[in-house]
Amino acid sequence: MMVSAISLLVFLFGLIIGSFLNVAIYRYRTGYTLRGRSQCLICGKTLRWFELIPLASFIIQGGKCRACGGRISWQYPLVELATALALWGIYRQSLFTHNNLWLLILDAVIWVLLIAITTYDLRHKIIPDEWVYTFAGLAMIRLVVSGADWKWGFIAGVILFGFFGGLWLISKGKWMGFGDAKFALGIGFFLGLEPALSAMMFAFWSGALVGLAIIAIERFQFSARLAGVPARRAVLGREIPFAPFLTLGIALVYFAQLHVVPLFIS
Ligand SMILES: [Zn+2]
Repeated sequence: MMVSAISLLVFLFGLIIGSFLNVAIYRYRTGYTLRGRSQCLICGKTLRWFELIPLASFIIQGGKCRACGGRISWQYPLVELATALALWGIYRQSLFTHNNLWLLILDAVIWVLLIAITTYDLRHKIIPDEWVYTFAGLAMIRLVVSGADWKWGFIAGVILFGFFGGLWLISKGKWMGFGDAKFALGIGFFLGLEPALSAMMFAFWSGALVGLAIIAIERFQFSARLAGVPARRAVLGREIPFAPFLTLGIALVYFAQLHVVPLFIS
């Protein structure tokens, strides 16, 4: 009973953090600070307090601005929900792992960063240096604090960085951005060698699936156009950001403890 009440509080706290995170992602490098009232991006109306309740406002308003009826981006409720689920997941996990408070706080900050990096990469197809270096730095601190054999985590980061850096170098940045290499460095520090490799496999598999789906949809649209059916709109850009797949891989390893690499070794 007590535990579920704390779970709920952690989840609600996550929603609020997610709401701030949306503002931070949106205003990053725009010259706006985190202060100042939120406005509708279409009509500019200053939003009232009841239009700023995480998740709830979006659902009640049907994803539309109350003043102009303009569509509100799905990014807002999704980032709020993802942050809430992440913090809740970290809390739930701590009940079994009995990690100390510092480790919990580090994990929470790391996951908030991961969600920010993923969302920013989806929007702008670039990973901000400050965020990805902060992630790698915090992951390094976590590695030392956790009391695990930090040498392996360190080696994991270097190996993954080398692998992604190699892909970036060989393809002259076509297959992989250099931002992905910096991201991989932190992933190695954060998870350690075997779990990080499992996360990479999930990332490449899910990335390949989505890539194939996009090619299939484009083919379909192309043949529809040949048949005289007007294409409604282009599906997606050619460049698919990779950070979301990497984060999905990290989540599968970190929260669901899914590991694929041991299957290949044993
Ligand atoms: Zn509006």
